[in-house]
Amino acid sequence: MIPNPLADIHKPTSWHCAFCKHWNDRQNTHIKHKVFDLWYYEQQAKEYCDIKRIDMKAFAYCRHYENKFE
Ligand code: SF4
Repeated sequence: MIPNPLADIHKPTSWHCAFCKHWNDRQNTHIKHKVFDLWYYEQQAKEYCDIKRIDMKAFAYCRHYENKFE
């Protein structure tokens, strides 16, 4: 099994659906805090995006990204 990747939620390298406020993961079931700004995310998880109106994988990204922590 591939380990879940880490992302710094305040850097552009974390601009994935997993950390976007439009991804339907309000309970944060697909992300897990590690330490400071570092979070794990399940990159193969799929949830509905209310902008695209389709299911998107956690590692995806688009120009409508908005950080759910800001
Ligand atoms: S597709 Fe875009 S708007 Fe939708 S969850 Fe992903 S980054 Fe956010």
